[in-house]
Parts: sequence; C-alpha cells; structure tokens
Amino acid sequence: MNKTILHLDLDTFYVSVERLIQPALKHRPLLVGGTSDRGVVAACSYETRGFGVHSGMPMRMAKQLCPEAVVIRGNAGTYSKHSDVVTEIIKEQVPVFEKSSIDEFYADLTGMDRFFGSYKYATELRKKIIKETGLPISFGLSVNKVVSKVATNEAKPNNQIKIDFGYEKPFLAPLSIKKIPMVGDKTYQTLRNLGIRQVKTVQEMPKDVIHQVLGANGVLIWKRAQGIDNTPVVPFNERKSISTERTFDKDTIDVVKLKGILTAMTENLAYQLRRGEKLTACITVKIRYSDFNTYSKQKRIAYTSADHILIPKVMELFQSLYNKRMLVRLVGVRFSHLVSGNYQINLFEDTEETLNLYQAMDKVRQRFGDRAVLRASAMGAKTIGRMQNPFNGQPPVVLAHRKQ
Ligand SMILES: [Mg+2]
Repeated sequence: MNKTILHLDLDTFYVSVERLIQPALKHRPLLVGGTSDRGVVAACSYETRGFGVHSGMPMRMAKQLCPEAVVIRGNAGTYSKHSDVVTEIIKEQVPVFEKSSIDEFYADLTGMDRFFGSYKYATELRKKIIKETGLPISFGLSVNKVVSKVATNEAKPNNQIKIDFGYEKPFLAPLSIKKIPMVGDKTYQTLRNLGIRQVKTVQEMPKDVIHQVLGANGVLIWKRAQGIDNTPVVPFNERKSISTERTFDKDTIDVVKLKGILTAMTENLAYQLRRGEKLTACITVKIRYSDFNTYSKQKRIAYTSADHILIPKVMELFQSLYNKRMLVRLVGVRFSHLVSGNYQINLFEDTEETLNLYQAMDKVRQRFGDRAVLRASAMGAKTIGRMQNPFNGQPPVVLAHRKQ
C-alpha cells in the first residue's frame, strides 16, 4: 500500500516568533542572531534575502548588505517554548509523528482515509496550528518524506502543496538540483561542473554514472531525484536519547571527582550530539548511593548541543540531587527529547569564535579520538569516551570498564 506522508515546516521560525511578540516588525527586514560585531545570522526574513543575506553569515556582513534591517538577538528558550506548543497540537491530532527539528515535523497519515481525506485532514491541522499559535506554517503531502519536504519548500511561504501518487517525478523534474535534500554546496558545485542544473537531468542519467562521480551519496541523490524514498516516520517518543553512566570501583564522597566525571560525561555526550547533528531539550542526572537507593532529576531546557550551556545545567541538577552526605556508587547523565539541528539554535549567544572553537575541538576529536581535547576539570575522569556515533544506527559499544 502507498503511504501518505505529511511534512510540516514553520516558515522562517525565529523571525515569525519575533513578529508574534512584536507585531510592528511585520513586513520589515529582520535579522535574528548574535548582535555583537562578532555575531552570526541565525535567521533572516524573506525581505532581507534579496540583498544576499543568508543564515550562517557574519552579522557584520548582513548589516552591510541590508543596513535597514532590524537586528534582534534571539532567545533559544522562547523558540523552544513556541516549538513545544506546536508539537502539542500535532500530538493531539496525529497518531504517528516525528519531530525532526525545532520547526519541522513529519506525520504518517497512511490509512487515515483515502488521499483526499488526508489532504483535507492536513489542511485542517495547518489551519488549527496557524489559528492557535499565530505562526505561519507550510506543508507538503505525498507518498514519502523526501518528496513532501521538497513540496513544502515549494509551497512556502505560508502555503500547502499535495503531490498526487505517480506525479513525483514530473513534480521534481523542473526544479534545481539544489532543492533535493542532502545536495549541499559542495555536491551542488560538483553537479554543476558536470553541467547538471535540473533534477530532470539526474532523472535521465544512468545510476552508474552518478555512482562513479559521487559514490554511494550519488546513488542516494539519484533515488531522491526519481522521487524514491522509503525512510519511515520515526515516532517522536521513540526518538533516541543518549546517556552514559559510571559505577565506581570504590564508592566515593569526593565531590570534586564526581563533578569532574559529570563534566567529562557531559562534554562527551554533547560531542556525540553535535556529531549526529542533534539537539537536546531535556537533561537527566542520576545518582546511586552506596545503599543502592537511586535518585534522578530532570530538567527541560532550550534546545542546544553546546557544552558551555549543558555543563552548568548538569552541575545544577547534581547540586540539587546530591544532598545526602553519603557515599556515591554511580552517577549518570542522559540527554533526551532529541531533535535534528546544528549550532544555529545557539547563534544568538555565540560569537564566531565560540562556533569556530567548537568546530576546531570537534575536528581534533574526529581525528585523534574523543579525549584528545578536554576541559581541565574533566581531566581526572580517565575512562569516559571512545563511544561511537550513536546516530549511525549501530548498537553502542559496551565498554569493558563499565559496570551496569
Ligand atoms: Mg522552518
């Protein structure tokens, strides 16, 4: 049976939230991001795009290109809250949905009704979200995730598109190859150098040829160009969380040591998040005392993958949890409510230097191992790390030193 997959995407999410808070900003060119001279653009309104502004660009440059733009320092907490409100509405209306990023959702509407029924259902859902949140949102509806995502992008701003079964290829054919998810700047250039501009050309190419040029990636692009995609919608509540814990050989009351280990754990998990391009919105810290009583405490936070935001929150939770002056047998940290996303969410607080620092640290770790770069306070923790990428679908390696 054919599937019916809905993709919903909030339009220029951060910009829309700012306009909701300050309606006077409507229709004005707007930049959201780090407001210092070293800041970076996290989001920009449609009005600024004609000037060549795009997200990820240094704020200084964006201001030069579009001097009349209003510049706002974003707030990850505010955006996370609005994202949660939208998530709750979708959760009420749709049995199986995936939250793929802070402003994007997939829902499997297969079998809910015949196709027209699903389209009507999606239309009602979109109306409800707009009415209840005041945020513009677009959707694409088709047989799979890739075609629906492309359809949403074509529908934007604030609109909707349905691609009937069998019309996937003709829908994609006239579009630029840039519109295929996963064709980044580099791949785009490679394809352009081969004289390929439209999806149609890829559709007509033999699979082997693109395989020779771009390898396995090329085959995936070729499949997507044909409108083929079998990726399932992964239910939100089944989204993986990542965690790590440590049982001590000897129970300890050494708070400095405990904090050092928690810092090392957090650093490592945060690196795993960034490597998998994920963000977390919930931290849990766990303690087991020598009497085997186990306590844990969790906290919702604004979506992030940055150590310097996560470590203080983990410490806060630990402080409020560790109230008995008793020997500790085990400590653990867990990140859950994971969604896809990269540094962008923290661009308001971060300068270019902070971003470059993270990228540089992660590069070193990629080459020389997880523990190649550490915070000084985490150096006491000798055996955290050497985890593999938890998002590549492989089961995690159980480390020999870890006692469960
Ligand atoms: Mg969006």
